[in-house]
Amino acid sequence: MFEWSETDVMIRDAVRGFIDKEIRPNLDALDSGELPPYPVIRKLFREFGIDVMGGEAVQKMLAKQEAREAAVAAGEPKPEKKASGSSPFAGQESLMAVLIGELSGVCMGLVTAMGVSIGLGATTIMSRGTLAQKQRWLEDIVTMRKVASWAITEPDSGSDAFGGMKTYVKRDGEDYLLNGQKTFITNGPFADVMIVYAKLDDGAGGDKRERKVLTFVLDKGMPGLTQGKPFKKMGLHSSPTGELFFDNVRVGRDRLLGETEEHKGGDGRDSARSSFTAERIGVAFMALGIINECHRLCLEYAKSRKLWGQEIGRFQLVQLKLAKMEIARINVQNMVFNTLERGRAGKPPTLAEASAMKLYASEAATEVAMEAVQLFGGNGYMTEYHVEQLARDAKSLMIYAGSNEIQVTHIAKGLLAQ
Ligand SMILES: Cc1cc2nc3c(=O)[nH]c(=O)nc-3n(C[C@H](O)[C@H](O)[C@H](O)COP(=O)(O)OP(=O)(O)OC[C@H]3O[C@@H](n4cnc5c(N)ncnc54)[C@H](O)[C@@H]3O)c2cc1C
Repeated sequence: MFEWSETDVMIRDAVRGFIDKEIRPNLDALDSGELPPYPVIRKLFREFGIDVMGGEAVQKMLAKQEAREAAVAAGEPKPEKKASGSSPFAGQESLMAVLIGELSGVCMGLVTAMGVSIGLGATTIMSRGTLAQKQRWLEDIVTMRKVASWAITEPDSGSDAFGGMKTYVKRDGEDYLLNGQKTFITNGPFADVMIVYAKLDDGAGGDKRERKVLTFVLDKGMPGLTQGKPFKKMGLHSSPTGELFFDNVRVGRDRLLGETEEHKGGDGRDSARSSFTAERIGVAFMALGIINECHRLCLEYAKSRKLWGQEIGRFQLVQLKLAKMEIARINVQNMVFNTLERGRAGKPPTLAEASAMKLYASEAATEVAMEAVQLFGGNGYMTEYHVEQLARDAKSLMIYAGSNEIQVTHIAKGLLAQ
């Protein structure tokens, strides 16, 4: 694949139409946090039939699982489970890449809010939940009727997420009592459903760093659960980020994903790690959107802004900026195309490769966006010119989904294991 297909281009143009009609007129309200992202995302889902597509995919998958489990209960041999993909939008990656890229160039927070809710929230329930848990939560999240958050990070444990985790549960009869705090949680202030990772304190003592990590699903309004207000941030204002507090929250076993402490897929550490690859590929898709938009805006500006009687695009130092933007665009686009192609061939990137993509693409997007501000001069520093917002948004890509320093460790680990 070296260019978008005709279908991709058709979808891209339709998404651009939606952006012009529904997002650009609301950009100020979205970027000030005055307008939450969810009504806009829901409208997008309705307009493009994404809610129907996701809902039907979930229903189909659950019906299959129900039939499988009924057959096993009736004594039939357990059928071999076919790999069904771990996303409700499996097979729609190209559509998602186009959508993510186009939205990121205008309002990346919308993508973050949507991506965390579905890509992390729904996907974790899908890969770890029992049939009953999937029936309870999945369809509402995939259709964006409900918003999900995915909470690992704590004030004293970000990069050292599992070792330093202090949030814990203790068994209490058939239930657990959850205590602790999470921070920097995307959608945290407004989430209806919260995936929460917590250490099991089984009273046996031992090294706290090594304790088992369990994954729970909480619903808004549970006694003892408090959702903090949105933080003020540098950028990405259209994606609300906040804290979650747990004060003796009583959680039944029906909220423990898999309803067992001995999940066959490993503990919560494995559950979180399995999301890393997709999350980091998603960052490359977003980075491409930022780069494309900066590239477009800078070319326009370089051809229209006149100084010393000529367009600034004629100055070599401006040309150098444009050339570097073009190199970044080609590289990141190739990474995205390569990922899509490999997905189709059933050979998706490894965690180390996805980490390498995340590292490169997020740095490229941040550099391109900062250089775009520079190319626009004083105008670039003014909110009225969109490159200012793009530069603030882009920087977040170097921090979340694992900081770029942590990507280095994951890339090196993959290389050294070969
Ligand atoms: C906009 C935004 C949205 C987020 N959304 C979510 C969310 O939905 N859910 C969630 O759980 N978390 C979320 N996070 C948290 C994010 O994952 C963490 O901020 C990130 O993992 C870094 O952790 P930290 O902030 O605690 O930084 P620290 O871990 O305190 O790191 C501080 C610095 O030390 C560096 N560092 C740490 N360890 C090493 C090492 N071994 N070698 C070299 N350098 C190192 C880091 O790279 C960083 O530069 C979000 C963050 C942001 C900014």
